[in-house]
Amino acid sequence: MSASPSNGGGQLRPLIPEEKIRARIAEIGAQIRRDFGDRTVTCVCVLKGSFIFAADLIRAIGGDVRCEFLGVSSYQGGTQSTGVVKITKDLSSPIEGQDVIIVEDIIDTGLTLHYLLEMLSVRHPKSLSVCTLLDKPANREVEMEADYVGFSIPDEFVVGYGLDLAELYRNLPYVAVYTP
Ligand code: 5GP
Repeated sequence: MSASPSNGGGQLRPLIPEEKIRARIAEIGAQIRRDFGDRTVTCVCVLKGSFIFAADLIRAIGGDVRCEFLGVSSYQGGTQSTGVVKITKDLSSPIEGQDVIIVEDIIDTGLTLHYLLEMLSVRHPKSLSVCTLLDKPANREVEMEADYVGFSIPDEFVVGYGLDLAELYRNLPYVAVYTP
């Protein structure tokens, strides 16, 4: 039995090592806490890709943090954004009057985030911001900028640290570029 994931015929090239991710999340968490003072922050973890990032981020924010989960499917198993966002699980409680941060794994075309911002803003949060681990600005189809960005990366398909290819590689502790 092997502890490494099989590469499914493709190549994995490490892009962001575990220690760099950890250090950057500590910075972002501290920045968020500074920005929100002693207010309660509601982190909306966008499933499935951001669950590992969100787990580390909420601990780095410290203080009072609520955690909500939103299930979203935008790829239907492939490596291209379809632009069609399907909600597979809605929030479990209202966010009205709350300081909400959408926690994303990656912003690529921006279509998913555009949809989520519209969907959540009509629920009247007190504030609505976006924190993404990764940003691929080269591939935007709609103008979209996150308030907090872990790493800006080139336009390549990445996996690991929660990001998948057909549900695999989420358990890699680092981010890697996948080439078929
Ligand atoms: P967008 O709608 O911005 O094009 O894409 C957002 C979603 O597509 C992300 O939340 C993520 O699930 C998926 N995605 C975009 N780029 C990548 C990538 O390089 N690797 C993986 N695994 N997913 C990606």
